[in-house]
Amino acid sequence: MVDAAPDTGPVDAGRWRALRGAAADLLLGSVCPGCREPGWGLCPRCRSALHGHRPALASTGTGPVTLACCPYDPLLSHLVTAHKDHGALGLAPELAGRLAVAVRALLRGSGWTGPVVLVPVPSAAAAVRRRGYDATATLARLAARRLRPVHTVTVRRLLVQRLGVRDQAGLGAAARSANLAGALRARRGPQRALPEGAVVVLVDDVVTTGSTLAEAARAVEAAGAVLLGAATVAAAADPRTARPARSGRRSSQAPAADLGGA
Ligand SMILES: [Zn+2]
Repeated sequence: MVDAAPDTGPVDAGRWRALRGAAADLLLGSVCPGCREPGWGLCPRCRSALHGHRPALASTGTGPVTLACCPYDPLLSHLVTAHKDHGALGLAPELAGRLAVAVRALLRGSGWTGPVVLVPVPSAAAAVRRRGYDATATLARLAARRLRPVHTVTVRRLLVQRLGVRDQAGLGAAARSANLAGALRARRGPQRALPEGAVVVLVDDVVTTGSTLAEAARAVEAAGAVLLGAATVAAAADPRTARPARSGRRSSQAPAADLGGA
């Protein structure tokens, strides 16, 4: 997404804004995507609520240390779903800003000041084709841009889903665990070459049970990368009941999986 009109003079800039507004109107409709009140884009009340949250440890009980910026409340549910499944691309900068806050908190908490690689949790290729948009990878790129003035951050789409991973919907807990085991692998080729001395931070829009992040952590470490932790825009579990987790610690028995879904 383009955050500001390009510097092409006042007439062209005005046209650009009008085009951008018209396109966004088509994508978002003329209601706030957070509360459905009439208006254009995110209303001041929803924006204020979104910015009022502070990062907290996500209560996953499994997987890597995970910092989430917001609880997955109805507002976040509306925004994430609108962005991911309904083409509300104008929300990407807002959500990426919240993701950057979570990454920054993770870095500050760990004391890490070296290079960082953000690795988005991959969606199924079919889901990306259906949406025409890799929502999580876009959030990672925009979040990296926000972090770069202070941190050395790059983005690598290091992970990919293996063929044969089924949609989790409709699967029981045991079937989900079996479906998720080994579901992700590192790509071969340039995406696998990480900067010297860099640590990986996994990023996703929402963490629910944490089992997808646990599988992503396993795949990152199997590829020889050093994992610092994970950061998400929102956590489905109440962060106030968070249990401490240790970096890289994962349960071999993943609970109900959240692969590919909010
Ligand atoms: Zn609103």
